[in-house]
Amino acid sequence: MQIDKHKIVSIDYTLTDDQGEVIDSSEGSDPLAYLHGVGGIIPGLERELEGKSSGDKFKVSLAPEDGYGEWNEDLCQGVPRSEFADIEDLAEGMEFQVESDAGPMVITVVEIGEEIVKVDGNHPLAGMTLNFDVTVCEVREATAEEIEHGHAHGEGGQAH
Ligand code: ZN
Repeated sequence: MQIDKHKIVSIDYTLTDDQGEVIDSSEGSDPLAYLHGVGGIIPGLERELEGKSSGDKFKVSLAPEDGYGEWNEDLCQGVPRSEFADIEDLAEGMEFQVESDAGPMVITVVEIGEEIVKVDGNHPLAGMTLNFDVTVCEVREATAEEIEHGHAHGEGGQAH
């Protein structure tokens, strides 16, 4: 079965940066399962997977615009420290999920000042070239429920 819109695709993958460091991998866990054609994974990877079949292997190098986007300085902001008053042991590198105009986003604390806390709303992989080594494990039809939910159920997908 070939990968096209509304197939459930399971992949094994290893993601490395340009220095060859492994950033993420499915090794040691279930393959990642996703619903194809709905933007559930990064655009460049979804494009490469289109038309592939189970057992296919490929490597692809994705520029930031096909991955998590360019690093955007506008997403770095100063927030009054008082807004973190409830957080014990506030530390650089801590991540928080916050509501923004564009929906939920994750911010990372980059610098803690006396009055202002600098936060960065960029995805941790923004601005990076992403090198994927992918094996397609399984391709199957999505169920009506999976299409309705917009994601894969079962092994490697959403558990609910
Ligand atoms: Zn669901």
